[in-house]
Amino acid sequence: MLQVVESQALAGDALVGHALVGMELPDLEKLLGPNQPTYRAKQLYDALYRRQVASLSEISTLPQALKNELLTRNSVGLPSPERRFDSSDGTRRYLLRLEDNRTIEAVLMPEDIDTGTAAPEGAARCRYTICISSQVGCPVDCKFCLTALMGLERNLTAGEIVGQVLFVARANGLKATDTRLNVVMMGMGEPLLNLDNVLKATRLLTDRAGIGMSEKRITLSTSGIVPKISELGRAAVRPKLAISLNASTEEQRRQLMPITRKYHLADLMEACRAYPLRPWEKLTFEYVLLRGVNDTDADAKRVVRLLGNLNCKVNLIALNPGPGIPFETPDPERVASFQSIIRRAVPCFVRKPRGRDIFAACGQLKRVSTDLLEIAPAGAS
Ligand code: SAH
Ligand code: SF4
Repeated sequence: MLQVVESQALAGDALVGHALVGMELPDLEKLLGPNQPTYRAKQLYDALYRRQVASLSEISTLPQALKNELLTRNSVGLPSPERRFDSSDGTRRYLLRLEDNRTIEAVLMPEDIDTGTAAPEGAARCRYTICISSQVGCPVDCKFCLTALMGLERNLTAGEIVGQVLFVARANGLKATDTRLNVVMMGMGEPLLNLDNVLKATRLLTDRAGIGMSEKRITLSTSGIVPKISELGRAAVRPKLAISLNASTEEQRRQLMPITRKYHLADLMEACRAYPLRPWEKLTFEYVLLRGVNDTDADAKRVVRLLGNLNCKVNLIALNPGPGIPFETPDPERVASFQSIIRRAVPCFVRKPRGRDIFAACGQLKRVSTDLLEIAPAGAS
């Protein structure tokens, strides 16, 4: 008999059925129970994560009887594609359905390695970034972000986080072990408010016996949940850390990101200074530029002072506009001036907007699904 291991209990979260993806080896051993030889759990683990099967029927190493028994209660549990939106710049936004019928988004962004610009399908030398969600919606309420308008529906389980990577990679013929593939937890949600599941997902993504990605190719972005930053720093296996700074003073940050009322800018900077960087790692600061609000040269100078002698780089993002967002995008000249001031102190890049035409760019994930935007049916690749 199989042991009943509820995903709910494993995730400590909302019920998501009996998905196998998201279980670590001890979870699978518990599921198969004492009557199965221990190597069966390893075989199942290998099929799920190293070979990345999409259904139990694809597993050839397990006896049919065991598969049949598994099938009565379990499924691999990858998210199912509801819709796919293709941008003219090669970006693909997936609307993915979860077991409880809620939907989330994941985005694939191909980039030309030689030019650093968007690379449409078929480009010869590409780097790929998969942007995944960590929650359904987000509770943080940043004033420039479309996801904020959804509020929080629930946390994602570790399996739902990993499942987005497995699904998008498979649908696009990519291998997770490909060193050209990066994962960023910058989709819907605040990953540090779902840290246990994010860390479990990271362990699964990086396990060499399984999916086998390098920690160096996974980045988590946070709005600044100060106590969780220290907790992240203590995790043995963790993604790289990016902080959404987005303001140059306490007061300005409070206006734009109400979370600052709870976690002050000074404490955030203190947590950044105390953060235990690995030898190969730098902190990343993201800064969304809002015309006439936080984009002046004086702001740039204050950002330089804030970042002081931190080992970091800065990514500037000119606001991606959206319905209900009461801000405007600055002119390119303003962005360039801001960048040139930061650059005198730390490396500073301007993130190119990707997939704005399909609402796939940063801060635009809110399940906007106009039929006009739709180009390909779900699952097509
Ligand atoms: N919740 C996390 C990760 C998801 S948001 C965080 O806030 O960091 C990912 C990035 O998109 C953040 O840096 C955020 O500041 C940025 N962002 C949000 N809304 C945006 C918008 N409308 N235009 C440009 N960037 C935006
Ligand atoms: Fe949430 Fe990040 Fe959007 Fe803020 S910017 S509301 S933290 S997803």
